[in-house]
Amino acid sequence: MPRSASTDEHGSAAGSSRFPAGVDVAIVGSGPAGAAYARVLSELAPALRVAVFEVGPLVSDPPGAHVKNIADDERRASAQRASEGPLPLAGGVPSNTMDGYASDQRRLQRPGTFLLEKGWRQEGEDGLPAGAMSSNVGGMGAHWTGACPRPGDSEVIPFVSEMPVLLAEAERLLGVSAEVLADAPFADEVRKRLSGALDHDRAADRQVQPMPLAVRRARDGGLLWSGTDVVFGDVTWGNSRFSLHPQALVTRVLLHEDGGAVRGVRVRDRRTETEHDVTARYVVVAADSLRTPQLLHASDVRPPALGRYLNDQPQVVYAVRMRDLPDGPAARGSVGVTPSSGVTWVPFTDTHPFHGQVMQLDTSPVQLADDDSRPGAIVGLGWFCAKDLQADDRVTFRDDEQDGYGMPAMQIHYRLTEADHAAIKNARADILRAAAALGEPLDDTPPLVFPAGASLHYQGTVRMGATDDGTSVCDPASQVWGVRGLFVAGNGVIPTATACNPTLTSVALAVGGARSIASAEADH
Ligand SMILES: Cc1cc2nc3c(=O)[nH]c(=O)nc-3n(C[C@H](O)[C@H](O)[C@H](O)COP(=O)(O)OP(=O)(O)OC[C@H]3O[C@@H](n4cnc5c(N)ncnc54)[C@H](O)[C@@H]3O)c2cc1C
Repeated sequence: MPRSASTDEHGSAAGSSRFPAGVDVAIVGSGPAGAAYARVLSELAPALRVAVFEVGPLVSDPPGAHVKNIADDERRASAQRASEGPLPLAGGVPSNTMDGYASDQRRLQRPGTFLLEKGWRQEGEDGLPAGAMSSNVGGMGAHWTGACPRPGDSEVIPFVSEMPVLLAEAERLLGVSAEVLADAPFADEVRKRLSGALDHDRAADRQVQPMPLAVRRARDGGLLWSGTDVVFGDVTWGNSRFSLHPQALVTRVLLHEDGGAVRGVRVRDRRTETEHDVTARYVVVAADSLRTPQLLHASDVRPPALGRYLNDQPQVVYAVRMRDLPDGPAARGSVGVTPSSGVTWVPFTDTHPFHGQVMQLDTSPVQLADDDSRPGAIVGLGWFCAKDLQADDRVTFRDDEQDGYGMPAMQIHYRLTEADHAAIKNARADILRAAAALGEPLDDTPPLVFPAGASLHYQGTVRMGATDDGTSVCDPASQVWGVRGLFVAGNGVIPTATACNPTLTSVALAVGGARSIASAEADH
């Protein structure tokens, strides 16, 4: 285990507290966005003392490592349970398959995540029944699928001109490659069939292609999924001024008296339930799209746009079986498809406004009567839509009720508009067209619409804006308007309606924020 994480286990030099008394940069949350700040600052400003405070426990080694890399089923399941915060899943839920994806359980919960206990729907609204979070070192980034497509057309943030450079940097930090699974059984056949049906009016870079994934091959040929261990990287682990503190809940960002600048964080040690103030010149809140605005609210930082423009990508799924395949692996079980299954990307464009994630499955999501499929021949299609953004879709917080951590309880206000219903209808028709090009349906079930929140891609709640006009929380460098030194990070910062998986974009924005801190320090 890296030295910097183990210092936490043995206490620090701060007397009765295991936390440092003061740092230069306090980062709240150890998911991909928080880790990206630590990494970039370790590279560009190694003189700064940087501490990450994470409410959840260490569940993998190295810290933040993806739980899918844990070979032992029981250890992996226990790492998932330990990430499920105050509401762990009942035992016995499969931890290593796609089972459950194609069920229509109204409150779909994925292993490693926990659902909002209360407040997820208001009377007469749609709500976010599947709204979920993870609490562990690595955040959701220790449980994710690793799909890292670049945004296109209207998904792109128009006022961040350096975005292509930041995205390339995010790909480096996350260890993204489109090659690793490109030669999975029949992956080329999937791409050929989809390309024939969908590529006729697409620009070259938005054609059907292998999905860029945060994964690499281990020496033994197995797959290693990137968790935040990879984002932190050797440079952070080797930085003697960096420390990582699990089971440390930040309950408040501390401000100077006039509220115009940060002065630190208040941290509750979850092992002793004692609270400690840690001074800091910069505070980065990277606590996911629901808990980042929660912490700002708890700190009395409440700009008008806080929690607003909440959006989840409506998701439609379907599955087919490919027939008439060329020569390849002969029988199910001869090749482990789950570890090396192909993932194909159908990019979002303004004329084809769905992000398609096409995954070859190991086992069929529905029971097949004559299951003689060859490995890789069952294909799951997921079409994500861009939400019709509304200021009224929001998470608000109650000062008279607490959540499982004692923080202000969340209330979700969320509605699908007519435009959303139309987009979902179009996505169902479109996924059937793509499916028909691939093969035959598994049964006569129509494409399924997942419950809202199931994308796990919530965005907008601390959105970035070009100007401080009341519709955004932070500036293009991710600094909260009017509060010097307070940065926000994660998918909540993304201001556009995206359909593609957002982590690459939010890590890119985190790189931009971290660079702005490093350059302010250099100028100082
Ligand atoms: C099963 C699954 C599959 C996914 N697949 C993809 C995919 O293929 N591609 C993609 O782009 N995205 C995917 N995602 C979503 C992706 O994981 C998230 O977008 C990403 O992890 C967000 O990073 P983050 O750092 O903003 O937040 P998180 O990873 O959620 O990390 C936030 C951290 O902050 C901590 N925290 C919260 N409040 C506090 C507090 N007050 N004090 C201290 N710590 C706090 C939390 O415990 C958590 O560890 C998937 C997620 C899941 C669960």
